[in-house]
Amino acid sequence: MINTVDTIFAQSSNTGKSGVAIFRISGPNSIFAIDKLLKSNQVVKLKPRLMSFKKIYDPTTGDLIDHAMVVYFQSPSSFTGEDVVEIYTHGSIAISAMIIKSLLNLGIRLAEPGEFTKRAFINGKFDLTAAEGIADLIDAETSWQHKQAMQQVEGALADLYSSWRKQLLSVISLLEAYIDFPDEQIPNEVLNQVQTVVETLRSTIQNHLDDNRRGELLRSGIRLTILGEPNVGKSSLLNFLVQREIAITSEIPGTTRDIIEGHLDIGGYPIILQDTAGIRSSTKDVIEQEGIKRALQSAQNADIKIIMTDARSSLLSQELHDLIDDNTIIVINKIDLQNHAHTIDGLKISVTKKIGLKALLQAIEKLASTIAGSCESPCITNERHRYQLTLALSCLDKFNLNDDLVLATEDIRMAMRYLSMLTGKITVDEILGEIFSNFCIGK
Ligand code: GDP
Repeated sequence: MINTVDTIFAQSSNTGKSGVAIFRISGPNSIFAIDKLLKSNQVVKLKPRLMSFKKIYDPTTGDLIDHAMVVYFQSPSSFTGEDVVEIYTHGSIAISAMIIKSLLNLGIRLAEPGEFTKRAFINGKFDLTAAEGIADLIDAETSWQHKQAMQQVEGALADLYSSWRKQLLSVISLLEAYIDFPDEQIPNEVLNQVQTVVETLRSTIQNHLDDNRRGELLRSGIRLTILGEPNVGKSSLLNFLVQREIAITSEIPGTTRDIIEGHLDIGGYPIILQDTAGIRSSTKDVIEQEGIKRALQSAQNADIKIIMTDARSSLLSQELHDLIDDNTIIVINKIDLQNHAHTIDGLKISVTKKIGLKALLQAIEKLASTIAGSCESPCITNERHRYQLTLALSCLDKFNLNDDLVLATEDIRMAMRYLSMLTGKITVDEILGEIFSNFCIGK
């Protein structure tokens, strides 16, 4: 257990008015702090993991602050691994201010962002990927984001990366025996075994990296851009999808000049929706031209494109036609009107008359699930993982048994180190291994 001298606290619930506010204290002085707040000289000691109903006082003035629920988690059986106390008060701004002031007066300091989780990691409660999973879980807004984060908290990535590390460890132990005896021929079966493990792991990591960033997309949101000529109903669709009027709709072409964004949940997938300026080549308006430029940029960065046209126009313009790819949904709007002239295939809808909108939502969900997957196997969820895995892979790519054995073993050791950095679990054995690997037997 690392001796983190400071005792920290934070309001763990949102600040402001609420039914209940939660304060968390962690560190060696947690018990001292709660004793002071409870005027505990007369009160029975708190039993670990047992919620008690208590009166909380300002230790300086002795004034009653609130009736509260208090629970104590004794080190190491707590979230952080330290002594932890949680206080549940009424969610009042005045009460929060009094508790914060009282704790500060007792020398308990405000926690930095993520400090409770950092202490839990340092105290070995979980690995780095699970810690990242906790942050993602708190940020999760949709059910698939929640599922992915929960898997990470449960250790899916930690287990995967640790199992790869173990395989490399077995390779090192096979090779190390021969390092100090260069005259001894490595038996063929050992060479084959080593080669198989390394090759298999190399392609496993490569496959894991070639995932089209589906985990990262699920975490950060799938970008969906609505494109089309002016006045086809793009802003009306955006407004329908986000269920509130965030884009101005009008019959005057060119009303949307910049990109308007909305966030929504379609079938559990986080969608970042963008409405763009209508694309038409005829405009002389400089501001509109800039809007069109931005619309085309947004199309470039989009994961899903909706290209919308008016049922009364026959063809898509060349600019729009050029943007169509596998992740495009073509939508023909205003089918409620007469004089249909369209000759292209697409989903027929009417935003104002609410026709075909369910089918459109289903089409978006289907594409989102193709792009962001369904979390069946654990996948990379952030750039840090991708970076470390790429480094590990480059070491395995370099590994060559025809090289000097010490150098070849070093490549494996480095690959292992990058995998360890992913989980943050670098064992003493590994450090000792690195320090003493240059010593020869007998020294
Ligand atoms: P944008 O320029 O592509 O963003 O188009 P808007 O959303 O501003 O819509 C242009 C006009 O078409 C507005 O007057 C809308 O009310 C109208 N509109 C949008 N969808 C439909 C539809 O399905 N049917 C009909 N009849 N009018 C629509």
